[in-house]
Amino acid sequence: MTAVQPKPTSVGETFDSLSPATDEVVGTYPVHTAEDVRAAVERARVAAEWWDGLGFAGRADRLRQWKGVITRRLPQLCQVVRDETGKPIADAQLESVLAIEHIAWASKHARKYLGRHRRSAGLLMSNQAATVEYRPLGVVGVIGPWNYPVYTPLGSVTYALAAGNAVVFKPSEYTPGVGKWLVDAFNEVVPEQPVLQLITGFGETGGALVTSGVDKIAFTGSTATGKKIMAAAANTLTPVVIEAGGKDPVLVDADANLDAAADATVWGAFSNSGQTCIGVERVYVHERVHDEFVAKVVEKSQNVRAGSDEDAQYGPVTMPSQLAVIRRHIADALQRGGRAVLGGVDSVGDRYAQPTILVDVPEDSEAVREETFGPTVTIAKVRDMDEAVDKANATTYGLGSTVFSKSRGVELAARLRTGMTSINAPLSFAGIASLPFGGVGDSGYGRIHGPEGLREFARTKAVARQRFTAPITLTSFNRKE
Ligand code: NAD
Repeated sequence: MTAVQPKPTSVGETFDSLSPATDEVVGTYPVHTAEDVRAAVERARVAAEWWDGLGFAGRADRLRQWKGVITRRLPQLCQVVRDETGKPIADAQLESVLAIEHIAWASKHARKYLGRHRRSAGLLMSNQAATVEYRPLGVVGVIGPWNYPVYTPLGSVTYALAAGNAVVFKPSEYTPGVGKWLVDAFNEVVPEQPVLQLITGFGETGGALVTSGVDKIAFTGSTATGKKIMAAAANTLTPVVIEAGGKDPVLVDADANLDAAADATVWGAFSNSGQTCIGVERVYVHERVHDEFVAKVVEKSQNVRAGSDEDAQYGPVTMPSQLAVIRRHIADALQRGGRAVLGGVDSVGDRYAQPTILVDVPEDSEAVREETFGPTVTIAKVRDMDEAVDKANATTYGLGSTVFSKSRGVELAARLRTGMTSINAPLSFAGIASLPFGGVGDSGYGRIHGPEGLREFARTKAVARQRFTAPITLTSFNRKE
């Protein structure tokens, strides 16, 4: 059976959310209009003042209660994630646990990184007390994707809330039920005011949020949509955080632990059906270990399989239109002289895509240049690690990267033009709440998570307070000699 596009079955006032594994309708949600969005933002303005008034301690308390509700009802949340994305329960658990970790971190550290602190006033202004503080922006609009519908939007929502803002959140049209679940859980512990509101719908609803007068937009999704959002936000100078696509490389040095590097490649390339912004899409391997590495990756991939049963390692391709992109990238690579050492065009079905490993693929082919967002990886042989760095950097994207090297990991990591790098472990930066998350180039800009993520949702305020009148004043007309 061919998967149907899990898009609206009825355009108008409501739309259906469909399971990508069965095409069953798993929920029906309103398509919010521009007017609905404006009304939500107005309500959020009032809520923002109340939320700010709770202070760091009051907000931390509510955020911890929210974390408690999510933790206690984790199986329920994971089922909603599974219904809407088709991913295995274990993957839904992993992203939810990571999101919970962010709520814990942001609520614990907001005061430390956003509270008032002293700066040196310098000799000339030594009669002044200089301080910096980070005030809430007001109302933040968060627009999310479907691939990690808990972890990804909460990476913005949580930090915006911890910084004292109210949030209007638009989840992807593919995962509105997950968004609703998270917002309902928050409203249980913050019933007084609509501090976190849900709006549902398609790109038009997201577009209305961008131009609604919110104080910032935090967007996670494709590079193409990110560009549209920036253009729309320019009119009102609404600031934006853009967390967009990636084409993440792995570098494997001659002295690397090849088993660890192969495990990381297999998991990073195929988990979540390759639908991961920081998923492994390209690998550059030192020529001395290339053949051995490829053999290990192929062997470790033998038992990796897409399906909806309990034994399957990953689920369906959530967005059926992506199946054509995956097929096209593989076909283009093969036509240009690449070889499939596992899988190939026929491994991409009507709903599931089985793993594909490509070698000898020219660097200018789509499978190397464009985000595939499917369970496909290219492996290329390089003379040395300088060539590996040059090739890894020869992309318009710059989100994450991974280096496997016993002797040069830190040095190679510094030379990679990406926002994040893991050394000798797969994608570990994504699991550390204190580390900033974000990219460069077509992967976007701005940072979520960690202290940088908190400050992304705050207005930096400098205050100089005169402590005593100085004998020499720099700022009067009758300046004394
Ligand atoms: P998408 O760009 O199609 O949609 C993302 C969100 O934007 C959805 O909620 C959608 O309704 C909304 N939207 C669409 N058009 C809009 C417009 N004109 N104005 C405002 N909002 C609009 O992306 P997707 O298919 O949901 O997600 C997959 C993409 O997300 C991949 O490229 C992936 O790499 C990227 N992603 C990036 C990160 C990251 O942190 N960098 C994380 C997860 C996913």
